[in-house]
Amino acid sequence: MKKILGLALLALVGCKTTSKVIDPIPPQLETVYEVSEANVAETLKYLSSDELEGRDSGSKGIEKAAVYLENQLKQNGIKPYFSSYRDTLTNYKTISYNVVGYIEGNDKKLKNEVVILGAHYDHIGITPEAKGEDKINNGANDNASGTTVLSEIAKYLGTFKTNKRSVLIVYFSAEEKGLLGSYHLAKKLKEKGVNVYTLLNFEMLGVPMNYDYDMFITGYDFSNMATKLNEYAESTLVGKSEMAEKYNLFKASDNYPFYEQFGIPSHTISAFDFSNFNYYHHPKDEFQEMDTQFMTKLANKMLPVVTKMINADTQEIKMNNQEVKK
Ligand SMILES: [Zn+2]
Repeated sequence: MKKILGLALLALVGCKTTSKVIDPIPPQLETVYEVSEANVAETLKYLSSDELEGRDSGSKGIEKAAVYLENQLKQNGIKPYFSSYRDTLTNYKTISYNVVGYIEGNDKKLKNEVVILGAHYDHIGITPEAKGEDKINNGANDNASGTTVLSEIAKYLGTFKTNKRSVLIVYFSAEEKGLLGSYHLAKKLKEKGVNVYTLLNFEMLGVPMNYDYDMFITGYDFSNMATKLNEYAESTLVGKSEMAEKYNLFKASDNYPFYEQFGIPSHTISAFDFSNFNYYHHPKDEFQEMDTQFMTKLANKMLPVVTKMINADTQEIKMNNQEVKK
């Protein structure tokens, strides 16, 4: 998550808060599919390992993360959206790129509409002046966790290809530099005239919250996304967070540039509410602090949710009339 004034301190003090479709895969296979905790742990562990040096945009460390994510997309039958998986940023001094995969929709009409699923894979790198021996900000929660959960959803979508609308899997870069990867891509897609229906962004999902819902959604009142996600989940999957509203976290992650460019429902789901994790932007944001069981549960819950979102007959996720806070 991008740093917002006052938030880092807050984290430290621990504040409370209808065409015919031929399905190529027998449906029984699809319904028994389950994300495994071992796979979640494997991806998370690699992305947050010291070898990747905190995945600072433009660094050698993040290059390794990009190669890993590209290979994973390829292995799961997901094609590059552009000429390669790499979408090079035009708004950052050091060469950085979003990693973008594409799963074409299987419905003749709906495939012209795009659903974007995103997570930023960059973090803040090394802090030489950090106290203690460990100087590497591994960013396990921020945001190897969201990247990992999304990667499991991508594997599922890439394998079964049950999606009627087309899907972009986007691993954003330079989020920590001010949402640069998402500003770049949102503008590019707008210029290309891409018909984006909605966007869902995954942020900081490595540690559970103590509420009666699993995640909060940013900009809760701006659209009916929360209502729809809960309907699709048949449970209270997402809720409204006072902290997220107070600090307008709607504007603090990669969903925001897409709202700005397209005026579409574009939100972030997260389980970091500033009370349940003490190592925000800290070298101790490490693999050992993450709850991979929780992450696996989330990934499994999200499979039918994203499927229903992508396959809905109409664009039923809509903006509310309420004005978005600037
Ligand atoms: Zn962050």
